[in-house]
Amino acid sequence: EAKNQGRNTWEWYAGEQDSSIREHVAIRRELLEAIEGDQFVVHYQPLVDAATIEIRGVEALVRWQHPERGLVPPGLFIPVAEATGQIIDIGRCVLRQACHDMKQIVEHLGRPITLAVNISPVHFRRSSFFSEIQAVLEDTGLAPSYLELEVTEGVLMSAAEKALEQVQALRNLGVMVAMDDFGTGFSSLSYLRDLPINKVKIDRSFINDIDTSRHNAAIVKGVITMTHHLGLEVVAEGVETEAQHEYLRAHGCDLLQGFYFSRPVPLKELLK
Ligand code: C2E
Ligand code: MG
Ligand code: MG
Ligand code: MG
Repeated sequence: EAKNQGRNTWEWYAGEQDSSIREHVAIRRELLEAIEGDQFVVHYQPLVDAATIEIRGVEALVRWQHPERGLVPPGLFIPVAEATGQIIDIGRCVLRQACHDMKQIVEHLGRPITLAVNISPVHFRRSSFFSEIQAVLEDTGLAPSYLELEVTEGVLMSAAEKALEQVQALRNLGVMVAMDDFGTGFSSLSYLRDLPINKVKIDRSFINDIDTSRHNAAIVKGVITMTHHLGLEVVAEGVETEAQHEYLRAHGCDLLQGFYFSRPVPLKELLK
């Protein structure tokens, strides 16, 4: 039985969407080792001003430096980590690392930019979440105004009231909050209306074929207009071509993020 487990440990890695229970158990064990062994690294992807291409922020994106498998992307382990609750330890580790690195990034650039960190709904919903953020900022000495937390609509499912309070508390602390992957999942306009967020990130799936799909182009244009009327900044994710850049700039999108400008890179490379 143990042999079987070992052999199938990484079947999910080959692209299987939902892992079997046995695979979950194996991944959970490997994640435990990863958490204890500090195997997570944080890469950074720039967000640039659409008009000037000046860097305005970076998004922290976790990777698993697996001793045998190499660099494992988050899509392959975050769903499991959310199911097991290990995402909380991983999230803490990413927050700490990113806030720590940020001081070096700002020093290097010589001007303030924003650090965006993705927060799992599982982590966000914990009653200790707010005090954890306070502690990380205190320990690393990073000013709250540098930090932006990226949440998805998932944070609002169940206990929407509490989520709203939590976002407000974070805003009062001086931390910014962005709505990630907007337009996917259970997106509701009421979230944009009710939540005291700063920013909306339009999901990459709408940007992809902005230059070939009139429908996507119309949606993106509309979302930009709407978010501006709500007093929010808007980011386009997954910008890969000059044509996409041009369209988004022409329609007043504030910030752009995508391979066209830079892939997510390790800190060292970012500083170059
Ligand atoms: P996300 O927060 O929407 O992050 C953007 C994802 O889009 C990243 O994938 C990034 O590499 C990718 N991307 C950026 N520009 C382009 C582009 O031009 N083309 C394409 N094809 N992709 C682009 P990544 O790093 O694999 O992360 C995937 C997701 O995993 C993230 O989506 C986020 O939901 C989650 N994630 C990453 N790091 C963390 C973390 O530290 N904590 C939590 N809870 N989730 C994380
Ligand atoms: Mg994000
Ligand atoms: Mg996103
Ligand atoms: Mg996305």
